[in-house]
Amino acid sequence: MPAQLSDPITMVVKRAGDVRIHTFVASFEDDNIANATHIVESRSGLVLIDAQFLAPYARQFRDYADGLGKPIERLYVSHRHPDHWFGLGTAFGDVPVYALAETATFIKDHGEDSRNDHWKLGNLAPDTVVVPQELVKPGEDIVGGVTYLFEEVTDTEIDAMLTVKLPELGVQFVQDLVYSGTHLYLTSHLRKWSRVLRDMLLSDYELFLPGHGLPADKNEVARNIEYLDAAGQAIASGRTGEAFKDFMLRRYPERKCPGIFDIYLPRLFGGASDY
Ligand SMILES: [Zn+2]
Repeated sequence: MPAQLSDPITMVVKRAGDVRIHTFVASFEDDNIANATHIVESRSGLVLIDAQFLAPYARQFRDYADGLGKPIERLYVSHRHPDHWFGLGTAFGDVPVYALAETATFIKDHGEDSRNDHWKLGNLAPDTVVVPQELVKPGEDIVGGVTYLFEEVTDTEIDAMLTVKLPELGVQFVQDLVYSGTHLYLTSHLRKWSRVLRDMLLSDYELFLPGHGLPADKNEVARNIEYLDAAGQAIASGRTGEAFKDFMLRRYPERKCPGIFDIYLPRLFGGASDY
């Protein structure tokens, strides 16, 4: 971890009527993985998507939200990987946190194990674990006058991923279904994942807000499909571990955040713990 973390990128991604969408992206440098979190700002308040990973970014994301001068009505956690919920314990312990039942149960049962597993982060990790208190089910809801469609996508980058659609805006928060401009965190579900992205290309949505990297269009979704398919072929041809990593780095030199290989390779090829 670098001594000095670089500043995040913050932007207003889209505006439609009273609604503004904001995106906050942590560093792409060194061991960082460009965690992207988002805010839907309506006239009355804010809905946040994910909580950041490292403590300084979680605090800056909270400061950015507070700077908008409206209450945080809800925070949705997309899935159980720690880079999406560690920041709850740092900066969002006082807001209503929503998640899929699988995600909330995992954080309740294994959140402390995960925190202990990340001891090397030192004070970049949260001091406490905040478990989502509210469960979200697939379906429709209206918050702050904005229509939300919640979906559960199974067996892709994770066993259970919450995605959030705003049909009136043509925006979908896809979180880790899309890695925008960065290397993907791969799992054994490459074919299923690729099919989910192909459906996304045929949808009416045009702006896809990822869990890593900058806001994405359909071209980036298509590049993710190509990446997944190439990875599947490399594995089918017998590449594992470092040989697989070398192959992917050579094939995609333009993608950032290669640190993610060292996080997932022991799990994909070595049976390491899932925390
Ligand atoms: Zn992630």
